[in-house]
Amino acid sequence: MADDSIAVVDLDRCQPDRCSYECKNYCPPNRTGKECITLRGEEAAEGQPEQIHISEEICLGETCGICVEKCPFDAIEIINLPQELQDEPVHRYGENAFSLYGLPAPQEGQVTGILGPNGIGKTTAVRILAGELEPNLGRHEAAPGWDEVLEAYRGTELQDYIADVRDGDITIARKPQYVDQIPNSFDGNTRQLLERTDERGALDELVERLSIGPVMEQSIDDLSGGELQRVAIAATLARDTDFYFLDEVTPYLDIGQRVTAARLIRELAEEEDKSVLVVEHDLAILDLLADTLHVAYGEPGAYGVITSPKSVRNGINEYLSGYLDNENMRIRPNPIEFEEHAPRSVTRADTLVEYPDLTKSYGDGEFSLEVEGGTIRENEVLGVVGPNGIGKSTFAKLLTGNLGPDEGDADLDLNISYKPQYVTIDQHMRVDAFLSSITDQFGSSYWNTEIAQPLQLERIMEQNLSDLSGGERQRVAIAACLSDSADLYLLDEPSAHLDVEQRVQAAKAIRRFAEQQDATVMVIDHDIYMMDLLADRLMVFDGEPAVHGRAGQPQQMRDGMNEFLANLEVTFRRDERTSRPRINKPESQLDRQQKSEGEYYYA
Ligand code: ADP
Ligand code: ADP
Ligand code: SF4
Repeated sequence: MADDSIAVVDLDRCQPDRCSYECKNYCPPNRTGKECITLRGEEAAEGQPEQIHISEEICLGETCGICVEKCPFDAIEIINLPQELQDEPVHRYGENAFSLYGLPAPQEGQVTGILGPNGIGKTTAVRILAGELEPNLGRHEAAPGWDEVLEAYRGTELQDYIADVRDGDITIARKPQYVDQIPNSFDGNTRQLLERTDERGALDELVERLSIGPVMEQSIDDLSGGELQRVAIAATLARDTDFYFLDEVTPYLDIGQRVTAARLIRELAEEEDKSVLVVEHDLAILDLLADTLHVAYGEPGAYGVITSPKSVRNGINEYLSGYLDNENMRIRPNPIEFEEHAPRSVTRADTLVEYPDLTKSYGDGEFSLEVEGGTIRENEVLGVVGPNGIGKSTFAKLLTGNLGPDEGDADLDLNISYKPQYVTIDQHMRVDAFLSSITDQFGSSYWNTEIAQPLQLERIMEQNLSDLSGGERQRVAIAACLSDSADLYLLDEPSAHLDVEQRVQAAKAIRRFAEQQDATVMVIDHDIYMMDLLADRLMVFDGEPAVHGRAGQPQQMRDGMNEFLANLEVTFRRDERTSRPRINKPESQLDRQQKSEGEYYYA
């Protein structure tokens, strides 16, 4: 086959006990007696028939693709690599396995970002930079060893770094992507976890600025996702190492906490001259956080390319436009666009519910919430914004009638389909069985086009809920919420653990669902871009988290964004080229001007 093609077999999917090797039977070279698709021999799991192997020498390439069509389990990919990709890979896990092209280049004193989908090789790259994985330059049969790797990087910005890795001189601190799993590997309370990490003498300040104080004595088992995220960030930044890697810092944090985390990471790089690498899918925060950016593209699970560094502005703009300038590479057919003069035209819609002024407090008034009476319309996507712990979920419970208000004559018994912030579905049940137990529509052409496709569920239908990654679980939970029949659909932080592409797809799916099903959807989220893409109107919560919350009426996007961002004292300007909203530097001329005009977002 052409030199620039690869064959990738996903061994988790290849199940020859459940097919009759149709790939092998139909492969044209095989049919003429060549050994293109063969059996792997000794690599088969015990008691299982042998899995397949594809010869990249003999295979005819993507234009044939017969085996890809024939495999009932989507286990095979035959891919023509883009011609622009002339180099050898940095690493290939084996024959017919994932290959990675390019590496990010961490720099002392800088925060380097990576922007791209999940499954594209970001963790592989970090394991190489941490010295845990010796790259084989694609020669998996005869690994070349570090000296040759160093030779391959001579004269590049990575030369010195790779020399240090080879010599075992690199120490690394790492924040994992899925903080929800930390309790499985640590027994004890927050103080015990953090004390072990205090290598720079910076822990007290980190604890204070990330507001971890109130949970210092709490068992790690009892922390919420947002608390775990802040503890994990503190535990990573407190270490004294050469290289820091943070895989997604924003899930479960509100905007104020996101901005604080971004500032702490920047200070570590700038003031301590450290190399920091971050993967982040909240673009407003990535923009604030990183000095330079590598875009990652390719075919998740098959191959990934990490570009040379770009400026953060250009990197994000090119990523959104779907076209990488220097690489001369289209990564997506259509651009992702933001509305500059947003307020979507408001359709005059019927009222779903009108609720009066409400108040609710817990216990002896440790927390109290005041809600100004308002209306939720049929057929709208109502965005809900505000810090964590301010009463957003409490308000939702008042709407269901599950919780009675202290004051306010609310006769509310809305039937709500609810996706909680922390998705806990992890039974031993297949995704398809789980979803078909929720809706009769499962598998209908409507459901497939409007729910399964945009949420990329097809490839995970046969997997067990308990084996899903955080992003996969999120997509299943969104689908489950929208598949139920209800008066109101409430999604709490649907963006968590989704990559940018998936956020945009999910936003589209939710909007179309509201429009086509005449459904009313309320979305709580802290990703400003996601909110911009999603919401028709906005409901703003403010006050003092865990003490007192106040909710205003749902309002137009412009007014809602202005009120919300004024509380946070954050303004956005528009990127000249793409109209993408970007956070202004505090006290910059634009920041001051916009604040004085009261235009925080759609300036
Ligand atoms: P990301 O961090 O971008 O989500 P990873 O680097 O974790 O991506 O994985 C990229 C691809 O490499 C995935 O398809 C994964 O299945 C594959 N992969 C990871 N580790 C191995 C391994 N040890 N052997 C074979 N394939 C692997
Ligand atoms: P949000 O959804 O905005 O994060 P919540 O409505 O969940 O906020 O919670 C607001 C505050 O009320 C928090 O301080 C939370 O700890 C407290 N709270 C929530 N539910 C209860 C309850 N059942 N009993 C006592 N306090 C509660
Ligand atoms: Fe055989 Fe390659 Fe065609 Fe698959 S794509 S059937 S391996 S020639």
